[in-house]
Amino acid sequence: MASGPAIALKDVHLTLGDGAGKVHILKGIDLEIEPGTSVGLVGPSGSGKSTLLMVMAGLERADKGTVHVAGTELGPLSEDQLAQFRGQNVGIIFQSFHLVPNMTALENVAVPLELAGDTAAFSKAQAELEAVGLGHRLHHYPAQMSGGEQQRVAVARALVVEPAILIADEPTGNLDETTGNQIVELMFRAQEARGTTLVLVTHDPGLAAQCARTVRVRSGEIEDWGQPRAMAGAGAQA
Ligand code: ADP
Ligand code: MG
Repeated sequence: MASGPAIALKDVHLTLGDGAGKVHILKGIDLEIEPGTSVGLVGPSGSGKSTLLMVMAGLERADKGTVHVAGTELGPLSEDQLAQFRGQNVGIIFQSFHLVPNMTALENVAVPLELAGDTAAFSKAQAELEAVGLGHRLHHYPAQMSGGEQQRVAVARALVVEPAILIADEPTGNLDETTGNQIVELMFRAQEARGTTLVLVTHDPGLAAQCARTVRVRSGEIEDWGQPRAMAGAGAQA
C-alpha cells in the first residue's frame, strides 16, 4: 500500500441540508493522519465531528477540497466505486450499533464479506465473532443480545474485512462504563495487532487520552491538531 498518510484532508468544506436548514458544517479542514495510529476527535456537540468522520469514511462527499483515504482520492470515484472502496478499506462503528435486526450476529458480520464475493464469508465471520468473545452468540438476533454484545458484533463486522481505517463515532456512548471499556479494549487491540488506523469521536476524556493523538474540532474547523501539524512533517519532506 502507498506509504503516505492513511487519511489526508485538504481544505475540506461541506454544507448539508437545504433551504433555510442549510448548514455550513465543515469550513476548511486540513488534516493528515499517519497510518497505524489512533486519533481521538473531540470538541463541543454540533462542532462537526460526526460529519468529519462521514467524510473520512466516504459516506459524505466534500463540496470543496480533497479527501485521500488509504492512498485513494475519494472525490473522483463514482457511487459504486465509493461503496466498493468503503467495503474494502473502512470499518465503521456507530454509537447505536446499526445492526440489521432480522439477521443473526453471524449474518450481520458476514455481510461485508458477502458483498465482496468472499466464499469464506461465514467461516471468517465466525472467527471474528469468536475473537470478540461472542462464539456463543452466533445465531442470536440483535434484539436477543445486550448493548455490549451488539456493539461487539458491530466491532466484528467492522474488522472482518481487515480494513486499513477503523472509524468509530462515540462507540461507548450507549454503554455502561465497564462494557464500554471492553469495547474500547477490543478496538485498540485490533488497531495495534493489525496496524489499523483508528479514528474515534468521544466525549470521554479518559478515552481520548488513550489515543496516540487528540484532535480538537470547533465550529467546523480544527482548533488543535494534536502533534503532527497538517501538511507538515514526513509527508511534506518526502
Ligand atoms: P457533532 O458530531 O460534533 O456533534 P455533527 O457533525 O453531527 O456534530 O453536526 C454539526 C452541525 O451540522 C450541527 O449543527 C448539526 O445540526 C448540523 N447537521 C448535521 N447533519 C446535518 C444535515 N444532514 N443537514 C443539516 N444540518 C446538519
Ligand atoms: Mg456527533
